[in-house]
Amino acid sequence: MTKKIIIAEPEEGLKFIDTHCHLPFPRPQKNDKLPPDELQYKQYLENGGVYLITSSIDNATLKLIQNFIKGKNKIGYTCGWAPQTVTYTPEKKYNEEWKKWIDFVINNSKNFLGIGEIGIDFHHAKTLEKRTKQVSELEKIFELTLDLDKPYILHVRNAAKNELDIENPNHKFNHYDGATKEILRILEEFNIKSSKVMWHCFSGPDEYGLSLSEQGYKLSVPSSAYGNKKWRRVTAKSSLDSLVTETDSYYQHPYLHGPLNVPLNVRYSIAAISYTHNISQAEVSTKTVHNALEFFNLDIET
Ligand SMILES: [Zn+2]
Repeated sequence: MTKKIIIAEPEEGLKFIDTHCHLPFPRPQKNDKLPPDELQYKQYLENGGVYLITSSIDNATLKLIQNFIKGKNKIGYTCGWAPQTVTYTPEKKYNEEWKKWIDFVINNSKNFLGIGEIGIDFHHAKTLEKRTKQVSELEKIFELTLDLDKPYILHVRNAAKNELDIENPNHKFNHYDGATKEILRILEEFNIKSSKVMWHCFSGPDEYGLSLSEQGYKLSVPSSAYGNKKWRRVTAKSSLDSLVTETDSYYQHPYLHGPLNVPLNVRYSIAAISYTHNISQAEVSTKTVHNALEFFNLDIET
């Protein structure tokens, strides 16, 4: 355990929805301590999971998910082209992979719940050239998918102080909220309704926890908010109406580091919100399940 935990344990018997995880995902190459994928899914449903939403980031993870969900009826997926995919796909393969992905999205929108994770990540892109590429690819995604009328799931990460683009030190993208501001500019450019947008694993800056919530966006609280004050602080002022829960597993374990997280740990997000908003876990459970079903347009008995 990294820090002293001050929050009550998750309560038994509550319903929950993990709105964003990566199951299945390429397994950790070293020291794989994750339970088998099927067991993760089973334990999630047996302990109160209403429905599971898993997310792809490229064509390979999309394929993994499509195979995994066959014959299962309490799982759906979102179709993502992550900013890391934009930055790390080898240039030679990029156009071919991109074309394959966007063709799938445009022609199969009935099969998935939303588009994402998509976004910008200035931690993974540190030069202006790489950052500009993430921005233009994101604009392309919105332009080509607007008519599908699907929810969007955003991954937004600002540059940290030590992640300056050295050749362009004064560029707006280096600013502490440069990525957030750029995303908001793009959403406005394409006239995307806030009710259609979820900020996955919302990480601040702090003031946006209030302003995005007031504008009608959904903010997703990761399981790591349980053990990490920073993750709790950013949504402490968000209205409960704007919050949903996620694990981002196998990342974002409630209090440990490493590829260790599972969808069942979404109960820790509920515990964290119960703490920041000073209401019962039961109330958080009811509200976040409702918010998730509504956002993803799911018609499911709870
Ligand atoms: Zn993710």
